Amino acid sequence: MVETRPNLIDGQWLAGAQSAANINPSDTEDTIGHYATATRDDVEAAVSAACAAADDWARSGIQARHDILRAASDEIMARREEIGRLLSREEGKTLAEGIGETVRAAQIFNFFAGETLRLAGERLDSVRPGVDVEISREPIGVVGIITPWNFPIAIPAWKIAPAICYGNPVVFKPAELVPGCAWVVVDILHRAGMPAGTLNLVNGPGSVVGQAMLDDPRINAITFTGSQATGERVAQASVRHMRKFQLEMGGKNPLVVLDDADIDVAVDCAVQGAFFSTGQRCTASSRLVVSEGIHSRFVEACASRIRDLLVGDALDSRTQIGPVVDETQLQQDLDYVEIGRREGATLRIGGERLKRDKNGFYMQPALFTDTRNDMRINTEEVFGPVASVIRVRNYEEALSVANDTPFGLSSGICTQSLKLATHFKRNAQAGMVMVNLPTAGVDYHVPFGGTKGSSYGPREQGRYAAEFHTTVKTAYTSA
Ligand code: NAD
Repeated sequence: MVETRPNLIDGQWLAGAQSAANINPSDTEDTIGHYATATRDDVEAAVSAACAAADDWARSGIQARHDILRAASDEIMARREEIGRLLSREEGKTLAEGIGETVRAAQIFNFFAGETLRLAGERLDSVRPGVDVEISREPIGVVGIITPWNFPIAIPAWKIAPAICYGNPVVFKPAELVPGCAWVVVDILHRAGMPAGTLNLVNGPGSVVGQAMLDDPRINAITFTGSQATGERVAQASVRHMRKFQLEMGGKNPLVVLDDADIDVAVDCAVQGAFFSTGQRCTASSRLVVSEGIHSRFVEACASRIRDLLVGDALDSRTQIGPVVDETQLQQDLDYVEIGRREGATLRIGGERLKRDKNGFYMQPALFTDTRNDMRINTEEVFGPVASVIRVRNYEEALSVANDTPFGLSSGICTQSLKLATHFKRNAQAGMVMVNLPTAGVDYHVPFGGTKGSSYGPREQGRYAAEFHTTVKTAYTSA
């Protein structure tokens, strides 16, 4: 008998009328657990609890909030092997990646513990003699948090930690496919002393639970990470209620490889950026924009690395690429391989479903060559282990192809030329630019986010998180 993990509403763990199974994508026979699904009424109760808790929470004081964040960080770090294993078991990234992401979550909680002690305003002279001006930051109010499945602990951490830091109560809805890590984080924070109503967990489908959050005008701000299609819904509902919102969505990130690149660095960046975490990263390098002088050597070396990648059970320590997250996503990846073929691209290697001892969603990473930037495989986000090479004549064409996309999350270049790297940093249309580094893989103390169709609203992470999680007050005093 598998235990059902409840939702947390107003400080109470509530079982709910229904539950959903959490299935291991490396082995569909393995049910990790059952998680209660919330109803619209549950969401309403959670929002009511958050509203009731908001004033006291805003006045709770920085020491109390610091201590909760610090305790959460310490516990996550101490339990990193166990939580990392749960993460890999429910999402399918390798154990090393699962533990790495868990450590990242602990670091994020620690960072925001520190930030609570650095909350500062400004005092300025007024243009009117005898008047003082003070600028301070105040909590934004009830924050709705909606997260995707591909970073089951890091994304919840980088949304929940600043909400707590700046004194906002939270209603949190994780992705249906990964309720496990979300539950653990909420349990840790609850035991660390979050007062009733300040942290509510409502699991369940986006169409019910997420939609109920969007429809509730009492949620003052929504921070969302996920697909563009859902992001648009969040935006429209938020505008209707005149609430603040923040969207982090897809990417079609280019990695430019120039003739003068260190070939080993370039191949490492491409393989790691395109295929690690099974290519299921918003920052994945799905377009490899390669200049003609290095093209053949680069393609040859990438194909050889891909051939050697060990695709298998996420929990097997030898595995380098875990399974795709579920059957629907795997089918989407395979469909895009077919679309690429029909568009006339050459499938250089991979792209087929793999059989393993256990029944899981395994796929050989796919590399296309002879692709044009206007093909669907280069304009639409696949969100799987599929990358294409686009051959260009020179740097100017590479930059133009790199920027020719509706997305703008991360953009990378491999070159030894300081001049071209500098030009690329200044002219790449992306929120994050990488020089001789993979497009995926970022720090936690600096802003994260994109331009164009990838992001909307203030940046996440680092000190910039305050822009979303607080509102600014300007006070004038005549002495
Ligand atoms: P998704 O949009 O399907 O789901 C994201 C979340 O929205 C889930 O919790 C889902 O239940 C919820 N949701 C779905 N319908 C909803 C509705 N009607 N109302 C409210 N909530 C609803 O995305 P996904 O498949 O979970 O994640 C993959 C996507 O996330 C990719 O596009 C990827 O690029 C993106 N992503 C972006 C970033 C970033 O920071 N830019 C990071 C990770 C993932």
